Amino acid sequence: MRRLFIADLHLHPARPQHSSALIDFCQQRINADDELYILGDLFDAWIGDDVGIVTYADIIACFKQLTSSGTQVFFMAGNRDFLIADEFCQTTGITILPDPTLITFDDQDTLLMHGDTLCTDDTEYQTFRAMVRDPHWQNEFLSMTPAVRMQQAQYYRQQSKEMTAHKPNEIMDVNLEAVTYAMDQHQVRLLIHGHTHRPQVHHLSSGERIVLGDWGGHFDYVSWPQGESWHLIREPI
Ligand code: MN
Repeated sequence: MRRLFIADLHLHPARPQHSSALIDFCQQRINADDELYILGDLFDAWIGDDVGIVTYADIIACFKQLTSSGTQVFFMAGNRDFLIADEFCQTTGITILPDPTLITFDDQDTLLMHGDTLCTDDTEYQTFRAMVRDPHWQNEFLSMTPAVRMQQAQYYRQQSKEMTAHKPNEIMDVNLEAVTYAMDQHQVRLLIHGHTHRPQVHHLSSGERIVLGDWGGHFDYVSWPQGESWHLIREPI
């Protein structure tokens, strides 16, 4: 039995090779007694279950097969796919986890996050996040037609691109005090997150911080077999 962690796949119909890589990964690498944790930004955009389930029918079918075979699959929302909801879960058999989530594995407490809440220096983004995570905003958004939602999503994406173009890299990375605070608050020595697309293992005085990378020419995942230590693995796509 292993626990596997992935994040930031940013699946998109224009990048079918990433969807194929995920399907291969699920079919060839994951066993029935494994647990798969997806730590956000599985999809590059998710404007509602009604649209996404149709757009990503191949991925939905893949997850359904995986969970039907016995594999437990968990999903934590990222900043691109936070509108994933009940219909997605019912169709795929995936369980949604809140951000952050504390898990215990081999007697080690581990904190799981997407990572965007750690980027506290980016106050513009945090204001935007607070807006779109408000249930009233989400209900209003989801009540619009798919075409209008798509337009809105593109508008927000464009706005975000323009804002980030002028931001120094440090602003968009995690704030180390926020990292230490989160680890202290949950009394953990291990944190796993994605979001920043800067895969690395950071050795901190508060413990270890594993950053998962995004899926591009290669993908990173953490494999943690029961009774052994974890590994951050990189493979070509
Ligand atoms: Mn993200």
